[in-house]
Amino acid sequence: MEYYLPTKIVIGSVEEELKKQVNLFSPIRILLITGSQIMRKIGLIDKLLNLLEGYKVLLFEGVEANPGPELVQRIKQEADLIISLGGGSVIDVAKAVSTEMKKPCIAIPTTSGTGSEVTPFAALYDMKKKKKLSLTVNFPAVAIIDYQLSLTMPKELVASTGIDALCQSIEAYWSVYSGPLSDVHARKAIELVANNLEDSWQGNEKAKEVMSLAALESGLAFSQTKTTACHSVSYPLSIRYGIPHGAACGLTLPYFLEYNYQVSKEDCLDKRGPEFVRDRIREIVGFLGLKEIEEGKRYLIDLMKRIGLPTKIDFDMEIVLKEAFTPERVGNNPRLVTENNLRRILKEIKK
Ligand SMILES: [Zn+2]
Repeated sequence: MEYYLPTKIVIGSVEEELKKQVNLFSPIRILLITGSQIMRKIGLIDKLLNLLEGYKVLLFEGVEANPGPELVQRIKQEADLIISLGGGSVIDVAKAVSTEMKKPCIAIPTTSGTGSEVTPFAALYDMKKKKKLSLTVNFPAVAIIDYQLSLTMPKELVASTGIDALCQSIEAYWSVYSGPLSDVHARKAIELVANNLEDSWQGNEKAKEVMSLAALESGLAFSQTKTTACHSVSYPLSIRYGIPHGAACGLTLPYFLEYNYQVSKEDCLDKRGPEFVRDRIREIVGFLGLKEIEEGKRYLIDLMKRIGLPTKIDFDMEIVLKEAFTPERVGNNPRLVTENNLRRILKEIKK
């Protein structure tokens, strides 16, 4: 077992922390990468530019959801330090840019869910081939977690990114690569999401602060274990049907909870054996504050409904079946996923 995390994590306000952290790198040119126009509208970009006064800052605005590899090439330019301000897509692109440029990156998340600020993965999408590319990239050198930045998230994003954090932590806990250190973070994240996501969605500020920690904890867990079947199946649902990443992962989570619990000696992918996997699933249900597997499944479906996410969607069964097997994700699932079994799960979420 190993646990590797070279990212310095700073929890605090960006006003107090940004310049301090930037100064440590003594950069001459900084490349600031951000997302949608909302950042500019709410004054976040100006705020950051003010904080970086005295430095030469090159600004790239407008990274959108599901970015492609060509964007990385377009953004690359001479700089000594990269700063990313935004959600998972922005941070993923910035990590890919930072890796290609061999320059450090400071990640500042503005959503609470993806955990991208502490992982070495970048999800980029080849939209022509309708294919998700899972890149392994450098970890950010620094992650600044300032929950205040997440307060302006629209409700749909609170829901989708919050469910992403839950999926990532549950998947980290049942991943074949789970270990004692990732377990600590996964468990914490599951409990924090279970106790705070709904309140956060309702607008409670304290709950939003906790959710930013839950997202971080989930990143600390799956940065080591990778995600599993729910994430694997989510990619075609996002690419083909525009379902936001977290919402797409959450659709199959209740059914994979049940599916993984029914693991047998014949289809168990975890070397620790089927009984170990079943214990894990029982523990996950316990972290949600419940006892029975069926209760856990129901709870997850109801949670999605309560925060306004769909639990059934329309899609082409054959296309999704063909594209849902991302080998580097589905192979981490504790129970082998066969086409027939996946078809059964997809029927549950099909309108
Ligand atoms: Zn995710």
